[in-house]
Amino acid sequence: MNSHNKKTEHYFTKPGVANIGLTKEDIKTSFLEKLFYSLGRIPVVATKNDFYTSLALTVRDRVFRKYVKSLEQYAEEDARGVAYLSAEYLPGPHLGNNLLNLEIVEETREALAEFNLDLDELLKEEVEPGLGNGGLGRLASCYMDSLATLGIPSIAYGIRYEFGIFKQEIQDGWQVESTDKWLQKGNTWEIVRPEISFEVKFGGHTEHSRDGNYKLHIEWIPDSEIKGTAYDTPILGYQSNSITLRLWKAEATESFDFAAYNLGEYYRAVEKKMRSENITKVLYPNDENLSGKELRLKQQYFFVCCSLQDIIRLHLLQGRKLETLHEKFTIQLNDTHPSIAVAELMRLLLDVHQMGWEEAWKVTKSTFAYTNHTLLPEALEKWPVNLLRNLLPRHLELIYEINSRFITEIREHDFTGEQISRMSLIDDRGEPTIRMAHLATVGSYKVNGVSALHSGLLKEEVLKDFAQLWPEKFTNVTNGITHRRFLAVSNPRLAGLISEKIGKEWLTNLDKLKGLESFANDEYFRRKWMEVKLENKKNLAAQIKELTGIEINPEMLIDVQVKRIHEYKRQHLKVLHILSLYMQIKKDGQKDIPPTAFIFAGKAAPGYFMAKRIIKLITAVGDFINNDPEVNETLKVIFLPNFSVKLAQHVYPGADLSEQISMAGKEASGTGNMKFALNGALTVGTLDGANVEIREEVGEENFFLFGLTTEEVAERKKAGYHPYKIYSENEKLKRVVDFLLSEELTKGNTELFRSIYDNLLNQDPYLLLQDYQSYVDQMENVYEIWQDSQKWAQMSIINVANMGKFSSDRSIKDYCEKIWKVKAVKA
Ligand SMILES: *Cc1c(COP(=O)(O)O)cnc(C)c1O
Repeated sequence: MNSHNKKTEHYFTKPGVANIGLTKEDIKTSFLEKLFYSLGRIPVVATKNDFYTSLALTVRDRVFRKYVKSLEQYAEEDARGVAYLSAEYLPGPHLGNNLLNLEIVEETREALAEFNLDLDELLKEEVEPGLGNGGLGRLASCYMDSLATLGIPSIAYGIRYEFGIFKQEIQDGWQVESTDKWLQKGNTWEIVRPEISFEVKFGGHTEHSRDGNYKLHIEWIPDSEIKGTAYDTPILGYQSNSITLRLWKAEATESFDFAAYNLGEYYRAVEKKMRSENITKVLYPNDENLSGKELRLKQQYFFVCCSLQDIIRLHLLQGRKLETLHEKFTIQLNDTHPSIAVAELMRLLLDVHQMGWEEAWKVTKSTFAYTNHTLLPEALEKWPVNLLRNLLPRHLELIYEINSRFITEIREHDFTGEQISRMSLIDDRGEPTIRMAHLATVGSYKVNGVSALHSGLLKEEVLKDFAQLWPEKFTNVTNGITHRRFLAVSNPRLAGLISEKIGKEWLTNLDKLKGLESFANDEYFRRKWMEVKLENKKNLAAQIKELTGIEINPEMLIDVQVKRIHEYKRQHLKVLHILSLYMQIKKDGQKDIPPTAFIFAGKAAPGYFMAKRIIKLITAVGDFINNDPEVNETLKVIFLPNFSVKLAQHVYPGADLSEQISMAGKEASGTGNMKFALNGALTVGTLDGANVEIREEVGEENFFLFGLTTEEVAERKKAGYHPYKIYSENEKLKRVVDFLLSEELTKGNTELFRSIYDNLLNQDPYLLLQDYQSYVDQMENVYEIWQDSQKWAQMSIINVANMGKFSSDRSIKDYCEKIWKVKAVKA
């Protein structure tokens, strides 16, 4: 897509230009060359990080060979392409994944061994880019992997945050945050493109004037301007193409420095420069009240503005007219974070490129497609009108105009006044705000949810009026994960066993896993399967020891809940269950509970009081149980600090049981659920998000279901929910909940968990007490089956065999067919 020269010469990709061979000898030679000539180091003084960097540079050359070839190809075929706009990416470490995709893992391992270096040790050196909060950013990165592997012409845009998601430490059982200095040792994988940079304006006012032909001209006179510069990371697919991840970094414009310098105000200029660069300084943790956070809106507009200018540049470079933008590009909005793009594209087309309104609007709403990721009302973005007026005055005018034309249009349909005010882009009950999901919906040709359940609820609840107006605009694309990173790279033992049995085709076609199903009844294979799991559990146990000092017996049932900490995800329901087991052992003298290690990990938004308290609850219960000799042979409770992709890659392969216990109707899809199941964990879960589809695929007899359904939740709440009544009528539940205030658990600080206790007994908005008994009962069933390891192995194999649907390759193919109408370019 990158060149206007249709007959690109295959000059740079001719072999023999550089040493980019894939044999062990080639890798050895390159590795030393990088150490000497790129780093100026000799082995005796080289640090582990020097070796890591030499290896990363060695691999990067080989990635670039594929990358330039892909770029040539995309340019040559001049195909329709995708621009993916996401404020977050969570790629995880690149090195291991690139080695797999180049198919040189073993060659590299052997090459390094000849220098007495261990590949696994060097892989550990990589610091991952934490440019996302969790699921949403990880999804974007899974999609990059599949776009590249499938050869879809595409470019992904985002923000190069200097500090990613905060680093989490646990001190005295509490979460403590510190900055994530991921760039401290440099970033081998990115290339800065100082010549790809765009100006971005903020503030000021607009001036309307008419020219000699009475044509309206609108000029935006900003009061500040900054510059965004592109930093590119090639994302390599498996055995195939590569695409660009282009992240924007904010910098001061030269002109400003210059003007101030002349006035002798050097320090004022430098200060301005520092303030401009603040825009891409830090990623905001989600779940916090972001509305009104000016810097966050600046970040969103900043990256959207740079990305759209870049897309227009690429389009015009090919000698095309802007009127055909939507024919050559489709732009996917990953949630509402980039939704100001609708107004920005209108501004660029109208004010900068002089297009008329009708034409510009047609191009705009044929270009964008929008993915909704949440039904949580507090997470639906709304920006105060006043903030927009100060920061983006021209965009506010455009949004008013889009809204007024939209309202005129729907007045012609049979919508009630109430519906019309519900659908308006402007919410003027209280302080006027812009509903960004409505802007995205009105300005897009397709809107999708991320699981069958979620897409249904989107049409029935959050966007129901829009679904009535434009039923054909709404669709579903169930999320997926890249099985290459989350099985082949992170679980080489299981990947090896699978390939031994059914060959390697699953790497590019996950449906092939179905071939495993016939071995689910093979006793020998089951034993092999469980041996692999045990090895992975040993590896996880070693990680646990390293990170927390706590030792667990790898033979224990490893029961895992890792994800962001949020009340709707109900980590505290898991805690209630653990306490119920504790009571059974201590108070009821029950002896036959299978030894279980309960593993938690996940970050809480720094401003989310309850989530932070839930972490303290988990660690307090851990402290208490792990130090009680009467129970600690049977129960262990562990909180792993600083959950990240890197840590996740150790956790999923080592899990026996996957906890997916959110209140039905709250988790849009989940992807952790897929990663666990793909690694052979069985799921205990509610009918929420993609759990529904996982259960459908693996069969209800291979899934531990509990809890109310979405409809039952709604009915229950409508009928009046009284958690106190449930508590007082269930003796065993009562003693567990009361324990939250006990001297023993709180070490005398009995008010410590009062907020959780009160919340559960008075509101319990996520129905923990309602679902408690059903959960505890289903866990009994889990334990019964766990005792029968042959049965467990069988269920585990069947789960993995039916994970085909959850490959992000399938998701991307769905996007291509249902939404983008984009075709692959042959690798
Ligand atoms: C997959 C993943 C998530 C999402 O987990 P859910 O269980 O779907 O909420 C979050 N963080 C990381 C690091 C992940 O890899």
